[in-house]
Amino acid sequence: MSEAETRETAPSSPSPAQAEAQPRQITTYEDVWRFRPRRLVEPASVDEVRVAVRQATAAGLRVRAMGFGSSWARHVVTRDVCVSTSRLNRIHAIDPIGKTVIVDAGVRLGDLTRALADRNLSLPSLSFLPDVTIGGAVATATHGTSPHWGTLSDFVRSMQVVLANGEVREFGPASTPQELHAARVAIGMLGVIVRLELEVVERPWVRFSQEFSDLATLRARLPAMLQSYEHIWVHWTLGEDRIMVELLEKSASPGPGFYPYTPVWRPSNRVLVQMLNRVGISTSALLQIRDRCLGFIKAAKRGSLRPAGNNGKVFMSMQYAVPAAQLETAIERIRNSDFARQNPGQVVEMKFLRHQDSSYLGPNCDGDAVGFNLWWLVDEPMKYTVFASFEQTMKSMGGRPHWGKYHTPPTLAEMQAAFPRWAEFEAVRRRLDPDGTFSIFRGDRSDTAA
Ligand SMILES: Cc1cc2nc3c(=O)[nH]c(=O)nc-3n(C[C@H](O)[C@H](O)[C@H](O)COP(=O)(O)OP(=O)(O)OC[C@H]3O[C@@H](n4cnc5c(N)ncnc54)[C@H](O)[C@@H]3O)c2cc1C
Repeated sequence: MSEAETRETAPSSPSPAQAEAQPRQITTYEDVWRFRPRRLVEPASVDEVRVAVRQATAAGLRVRAMGFGSSWARHVVTRDVCVSTSRLNRIHAIDPIGKTVIVDAGVRLGDLTRALADRNLSLPSLSFLPDVTIGGAVATATHGTSPHWGTLSDFVRSMQVVLANGEVREFGPASTPQELHAARVAIGMLGVIVRLELEVVERPWVRFSQEFSDLATLRARLPAMLQSYEHIWVHWTLGEDRIMVELLEKSASPGPGFYPYTPVWRPSNRVLVQMLNRVGISTSALLQIRDRCLGFIKAAKRGSLRPAGNNGKVFMSMQYAVPAAQLETAIERIRNSDFARQNPGQVVEMKFLRHQDSSYLGPNCDGDAVGFNLWWLVDEPMKYTVFASFEQTMKSMGGRPHWGKYHTPPTLAEMQAAFPRWAEFEAVRRRLDPDGTFSIFRGDRSDTAA
């Protein structure tokens, strides 16, 4: 990623974190976390990030990077120094021949998707929310749901990270493979990602369809579906074992019903959502309004309305991934769990990922994987506990937490069990950040998460 090849093409939209600089209190998506760091820094250049990190290290403070703040995991929270990437938001170069793009870490996924689309390019598989920053998405192995592709971290060709000593280190073809493996999914533990080079593909045409069935039919049909469709998203209703599958079929050229690939799958929503995004209404805001209304209607039907302005409910999400070979076992364990018995009518999603040997801490680091995802509107006082028994079930299978979704901190033993190459990650981390400036784990001088 040489400076010579970088060329500024388009600024990305500013994030609300900028507006929150004065009050110094930071709130994340759905107010899941509120915290007041000792320093909130909003650097507009890599040099400013270096200065902020060096000053923090000199003062013995810890540092957490923050993108759009849409993670449910507590790792974004810090009492010390929060480095927001909201002003690092340039798309530097798009190379349609080499099929790469170079972006600042604070660029939003939606802005990048639009800029690539203008050149008939796309990331190979997109996650759902366009508001997230590329840095935040890569740090947490954010992903779409495709049996043919991995996570956004897997698309990273190289990246620049500001280390604890203020040095900018590039991880890529010129660094050791161990360092690049560690950096691709590090949850900010190596330093602040400031710039990334990602692989892109020619933008495919896709056709949306849905299938409705029962669980037994899905289990019989799934192997064939995973072969035939580019993207597959399963919604399984607990208790009733009803299945709704959303599918995207890929084509290299347009045809009846095909449209250019975007993160919004349903053709009916696509145009409206994209129009509203363009006038500054974020997809997360739209989702909150839509799903609060739906939640309100559901609650009214059950006669359990609450008087609070937001109906006393918040959206929470938890996801654990297991190897695809354990899909059947995982379905059985979830199906027979107390969690399923206590939550009839609620939906568990299944998301699919192809094996990529490109990171130590990605969900698909040692084989194809399936993520079991919960995205529920829950009672606010229960937000940290509502998924506890689901989490136990998934941990009992060595499940891997989604680093950007709610989870209780894994113990060292759980990390070793879930990530076979954890020790290799830890060796790189200790070498690059020996004092634990960016660590998310307790044990050294952590006041942050785990
Ligand atoms: C409505 C909604 C839908 C979602 N849908 C999906 C989905 O479809 N698929 C999926 O996989 N996930 C999904 N997520 C999760 C989301 O993609 C992740 O939480 C992602 O990390 C959010 O990016 P962000 O910019 O908001 O990061 P933040 O929340 O700001 O940060 C997340 C983590 O990354 C670290 N970090 C952020 N920026 C940097 C940086 N520059 N350098 C180093 N570390 C950094 C932070 O310290 C923190 O630990 C969804 C979230 C929401 C709210």
